[in-house]
Amino acid sequence: MKDDVTISNEAKLVPIKEIIGKLGINEEHVSYYGKSIAKIDHKLTPEEEKQTDAKLILVTAITPTPFGEGKTTMSIALNDGLNRIGKKAMAALREPSLGPVLGMKGGATGGGYAQVVPKEKINLHFTGDLHAITTAHNFISAAIDNHFHFNNPLNLDKTRITWPRAMDMNDRALRSIETIYRKDSFLITAASEIMAIFSLASSIKDLRRRLDEILIGYDLSGNEVYLKALGITDSLLIILKEAIDPNLVQTLENNPVLIHGGPFANIAHGCNSVFATKKALKLADYVVTEAGFGADLGAQKFLDIKTKLIDKTPDVIVVVSTIRALKYHGNLKEENPMEQLRLGVSNLEAHLAHLSCYELPLVVSLNEFYNDTKEEIDFMMNHLKELGYPVVRVTSFKDGSIGAEQLANTVVELSKQTSQINYTYEKKDDLFQKAKKIASRMYGANDVVYSKKAQRKLSELNGTYKEFDVVVAKTPLSFSNDPKRRGLVHEFDLMIEDVRVSRGAGFVVLLTKGIITMPGLPEEPNAKKMFMDDFGNISGKI
Ligand code: ADP
Ligand code: MG
Repeated sequence: MKDDVTISNEAKLVPIKEIIGKLGINEEHVSYYGKSIAKIDHKLTPEEEKQTDAKLILVTAITPTPFGEGKTTMSIALNDGLNRIGKKAMAALREPSLGPVLGMKGGATGGGYAQVVPKEKINLHFTGDLHAITTAHNFISAAIDNHFHFNNPLNLDKTRITWPRAMDMNDRALRSIETIYRKDSFLITAASEIMAIFSLASSIKDLRRRLDEILIGYDLSGNEVYLKALGITDSLLIILKEAIDPNLVQTLENNPVLIHGGPFANIAHGCNSVFATKKALKLADYVVTEAGFGADLGAQKFLDIKTKLIDKTPDVIVVVSTIRALKYHGNLKEENPMEQLRLGVSNLEAHLAHLSCYELPLVVSLNEFYNDTKEEIDFMMNHLKELGYPVVRVTSFKDGSIGAEQLANTVVELSKQTSQINYTYEKKDDLFQKAKKIASRMYGANDVVYSKKAQRKLSELNGTYKEFDVVVAKTPLSFSNDPKRRGLVHEFDLMIEDVRVSRGAGFVVLLTKGIITMPGLPEEPNAKKMFMDDFGNISGKI
């Protein structure tokens, strides 16, 4: 089969103007970035306000391998599949981060015959949203240090500045730095609170409020200091002005996709922007969206946090599973692939059991790989049917939309049910209770154990921030906080090492042991597998 870039280069794109026309978007609300990318106004028009919301389909997955199991690919496939069966569908996805693109995983525009295009533009600089977010983030740091330079009128405590610097790169050398004023650190832009806020805001007014409320650190008397005190919020809004408008692109089959916002699902809430999702819900009849990493991280945060901001819960949840990953989660010492699969399938079962607690319709989509055997596929289909879950094979990586036709039909049928979400925790639960409920219901943990520092900090925060959501920052590679305990189910306690508050985003982040907010590059980064000839033609893995 041809590689992703070749398939994408051969795509017959239609002018994005045509897609805008089909969606019924008025030209006055569009800014073009070349022929195949456009930004559309984040505000809903009065006509859009009146529209009823589309059906919402959330795509999540089993515990992934470090290469990803195909949620983005599946979201694109399902969007194409729904359009194929005559539905007005669109997808709302996250923007790729340059860290993973150049690092381990590669791009985030799907794969095979289920891709969004223009692939290299989307994966690299796209419309500059991540650069704008990085700039806004670092301007806050510059303003803080400038404050120290000019005699520190706010009496900021140099040793208690909680606002780090950010860069959209895997650069572990910057995990800890020393500036001329103080010790500091960098995180990757996808882990920045600006990215989280950008993706959660529902209006410019709400964005301003959230920015103002960011906790930047403490003063010498121990009082919290908020961004508002620096007087730069409007400049940040201006830096972000273009970025807040969602980006419209198309799939290989010319169906619409909004790609906007991209926080990681471990350190933040892990889904595309509220602006884009709300817009898509008004423009289409079916909206497919993806939550990052496995269901324990991404789907939990989508369901318990984002649904409240978009005032809409998913009508169907699609759980992507691959035989490759389930075998990986099985016993590594086991040489027999069928035995590995029989063991590893417990990972999918656990995710399904945890997700079932939300009481929303679920379907398992089996993302087929070329080397899956008939015996393995038959086992999966029979096993899931016995467990009582709908399960559909999807071959869109190889076949395009036709490979997702059955999934599309199943999703349409399931979306006819009416369901009421059963949240993991209630707003009135305190932060400890929220953490306990997430850990036991979504990870299967016995208990949550805090370091002394985490216990002290969380107790303090519980006074002021009890109503906040809790975001657990944990490895995506295991239900537990230990990435070596692969995707099988174990007895474990969730170990919380540190705590921080993302005050503007509205959540308290619990950092498990070993969580890294600035990733490193692998020895052979993906960047070594991408190429450009003297004429500017790009090939390889991007
Ligand atoms: P996720 O969104 O879950 O992280 P992606 O959709 O980005 O996963 O897919 C991860 C990688 O796996 C991509 O490089 C993609 O091309 C590849 N991939 C996905 N599905 C298949 C498949 N069925 N066969 C082969 N490769 C696939
Ligand atoms: Mg993805």
